Amino acid sequence: MTLTTTTVTTERVCPACREPLADWSCVACGRDYPEVAGLPDCRIASDRFLDLASERAKAERLDRLAPGLDLEGLAEAYYAMTADVEPRRRGFYLAHILGAEARGSALAALLPRTGKILELGCGTGGLLAAAARRGLTIEGVDIALRWLVVARRRLDDLGLTVPLVAAEAEHLPYPDASFDAVVVDSLLEHVDDPWLVLREASRVLRPGGSLLIWSPNRYSLMIDPHVRLWGLGWIPRRWMSAYVRFRRGGAWPPTCLSVAEAHRLAANAGFESISIEPPEIPASWASSRPRNQQSLIKAYAMASRFGPMRVCLRALGPLWQLRAIRGGPA
Ligand SMILES: [Zn+2]
Repeated sequence: MTLTTTTVTTERVCPACREPLADWSCVACGRDYPEVAGLPDCRIASDRFLDLASERAKAERLDRLAPGLDLEGLAEAYYAMTADVEPRRRGFYLAHILGAEARGSALAALLPRTGKILELGCGTGGLLAAAARRGLTIEGVDIALRWLVVARRRLDDLGLTVPLVAAEAEHLPYPDASFDAVVVDSLLEHVDDPWLVLREASRVLRPGGSLLIWSPNRYSLMIDPHVRLWGLGWIPRRWMSAYVRFRRGGAWPPTCLSVAEAHRLAANAGFESISIEPPEIPASWASSRPRNQQSLIKAYAMASRFGPMRVCLRALGPLWQLRAIRGGPA
């Protein structure tokens, strides 16, 4: 099978001061953005799990292993060198990585067919692969360069080429109005200030460009997918950290947004025509998920097509889907 993909690399700027880059150095503030494991590293800071030097070393180790491994092998190698993930959770995370393209296909079907698309928090590239297979022009950004090494393995295995950049969603290395669409899956709950991410998404979108987000619902009646606790979103935010520490011994709690909170933040970040719905997911998605989730996913897939159930799912379902348009002169 021969796949033809269009690769357009967007102009990059310094994520700190937004001045032009020359050979990955900022002409204005003097910051350097090195290439790490063959990928551009436009980060000013790292994620909460590793400092920049340790993160780069881990990405380079994975990159050295990558030529001899497939996607599953590389994901297993990642967890073999990651001591802070409980062994009993590794199977769950591996299934999540291997099933990421099925989830990405459901989201890719909602993206515009033309124009340039940016995915924030692309992780191991499930959506990037699904979108590129459909012939969409997409780029991926993630703060974890180690995950981009895994994403590149996934894309290479499929014969797809997608630009990947390590960068913070709050400080993107692109000029204003660079993209026609921005897509964000399961990222906002992991950042300190989701409004900063939405404002940056608005900046890199052209006026009239579209935003599409999937994120876990704060008021979900399901178990929290990150720390495996029921009813976490119903606890007042100021008690959440202490409760998660008490129940899970130091686990950092994600900050899932409710539908109302997400709507307010998007409006404050410059978005218009905001709509929030429970996402429709295909029942076929269940086949790529762990067995204990399959009947729940099938039940959700049926309910999400039934009007009265959609009202309940919007408020209390596991996920919400936000669509909005970047305001400003067209
Ligand atoms: Zn600069």
